[in-house]
Amino acid sequence: FLDQEQGIRSQLNLAIVGHVDSGKSTLSGRLLHLLGRLSKREMHKYEKEAKEMGKGSFAYAWAMDESAEERERGITMTVAVAYFVSKKYRIVLLDSPGHKDFVPNMISGATQADAAVLVVDASVGSFEAGMDGYGVGQTREHAQLIRSFGVEQIIVAVNKMDMVGYSKERFDFIKLHLISFLRSCGFKDSSVTWIPISAMENQNLVKAASDVRLSGWYQGPCLLDAIDSLPPPLRDVSKPLILPICDVIKSPSMGQVAACGKLETGAIQNGSKVLVMPSGDLAMVRSIERDSSTCSVARAGDNVAVSLQGIDSGLVMPGGVLCHPDYPVPVSIRLELKILVLDIAAPILIGSQVALDRAVCVEEYSKCRALGRAFLRSSGSTIAVGVVTRVLE
Ligand code: GDP
Repeated sequence: FLDQEQGIRSQLNLAIVGHVDSGKSTLSGRLLHLLGRLSKREMHKYEKEAKEMGKGSFAYAWAMDESAEERERGITMTVAVAYFVSKKYRIVLLDSPGHKDFVPNMISGATQADAAVLVVDASVGSFEAGMDGYGVGQTREHAQLIRSFGVEQIIVAVNKMDMVGYSKERFDFIKLHLISFLRSCGFKDSSVTWIPISAMENQNLVKAASDVRLSGWYQGPCLLDAIDSLPPPLRDVSKPLILPICDVIKSPSMGQVAACGKLETGAIQNGSKVLVMPSGDLAMVRSIERDSSTCSVARAGDNVAVSLQGIDSGLVMPGGVLCHPDYPVPVSIRLELKILVLDIAAPILIGSQVALDRAVCVEEYSKCRALGRAFLRSSGSTIAVGVVTRVLE
C-alpha cells in the first residue's frame, strides 16, 4: 500500500535555529509568505505574534491552526505547524525559538529535525555576541544541540547582510569563524552550506539576489535551492511501525481518542490494527490526519494525528508508542542516561541511572533515536535533556 501515494513530495522536517533576534521569525514568515502559505497581512501577524508570544509553539501553531473548532476536533499537532512546498520537498518548519528560556522548546523541535537552518546575524557586534556572549553563545549552543540530536545537514543562513552593505568580506569573516567550530561539533564540511541572505529585504531567499551588491559576488544557490539540494532524509518504511506519541487528543462525547506524533519507522494505514504501548492493548486505526487533511496511509517521517477505535482512551498516553502488533517495542523502568542539564548557566553533560515509578517505552539511542531520547521535567518545565545509553530492566 506504500505505492498508493506515489508522486507526492517527500517530507523534510526543518528546524530553524539560532540566536535570539538573528531573524528566525522574520525568515520563517517570509518563506511561508513567498511560497504562498501566508498572505502579507498574515505574515506580519505571524512575525509579530512570534515575537510577542515568546516564540513558543503557539506562535507558529496559529499559522496552520485555522479555528478553535479545528483544535477541538484535534487535527492540529503540537510540533509540526507550518509548511511550504518546494520543487523537491514538502518542508515542515519546526518550532525552534532562540531565547535562552526557550531552549527546551527548541529541543523538542530539533529532535524531530532532518536538517537545520542555523540563522546567524551578520551585523557588526551581533555575530560576535552570538558566538561568545554569556560565556556560551547561543549560536554555538544551538549548533551543538542540533548535532547531538543527530542532525547532520545544516544550512548556515548568514542573515541581515543588508546591515553590512552585503559585504563579501563580512560573509567570509563569519564563515571563517564558524567553520572550525562547526567541525568541532561534528559537522562535515560537505554537509554545511553557507548562504548570505537578508530576510528583511528578501534577498536570496527563494530566488537569486536582485541587489547587485550581493549578486555582484555571490552566484551560488538561494536559500530555497540550498534546501532542495539537501539529501532526502532516510525514511525507514521497511522497518516495523514505531509512532512515538507526543500528544493525545480526547473527545469524550464521541468516545474518540487520537494519538499525535511523528512516524519514526514503518507505515500506518486506515483500518489496520496497532499495538498501544506500554499497555500492550490492540486498537484499530479509524482515520489518519496529516497537517490538517485526512489521508489513508502515512509513513516514516510524517507528522500525524491517528484516531483510534476499540481502546480505552486512558491507555493512550504521551510517551507511549503505537507499533506493529507483531513487533512490540521494549518497556522498562530502569535506565542509564546521559543528560544535559539546562537549568544552569552553562549546560553540562552527566551520566546517571534513573528508576521510574512506571514502565515506559524505551530503547538505547544508538538503536532507536525516537525511543532513546529523554526529557526530565519538573513543575512543567524541562530541566534536562538526554539520551538513553542502556536499558537496565
Ligand atoms: P528571532 O528572534 O531570531 O526570531 O528574530 P526576529 O525575526 O524577531 O528578528 C529580530 C529583529 O531583526 C527584528 O526587528 C527584525 O525585523 C530584524 N531582522 C530580521 N531579519 C533582518 C534582516 O535581514 N535585515 C535587517 N536589517 N533586520 C532584520
